[in-house]
Amino acid sequence: MADWLLGYTILILAIAFGGYALNILREKKIAWALSRPRLARCPKCRHVYMIERFTLNPHCPNCNARTTNFITQN
Ligand SMILES: [Zn+2]
Repeated sequence: MADWLLGYTILILAIAFGGYALNILREKKIAWALSRPRLARCPKCRHVYMIERFTLNPHCPNCNARTTNFITQN
């Protein structure tokens, strides 16, 4: 009876962990989709980087030139 209970517990834990892993993978995808509009490309040196949230005047970290949004540029 103890063996059956142990097996059942392991099965439940495996299912819970599988669901947790799937959730992490899905959240990663969503996070990437949301962060895509925050991508910016420098018009001067073509450096692609992420704009930090709530930055009104983004600047290129490479050459310090003013940059526009990646999506609106393309
Ligand atoms: Zn630049």
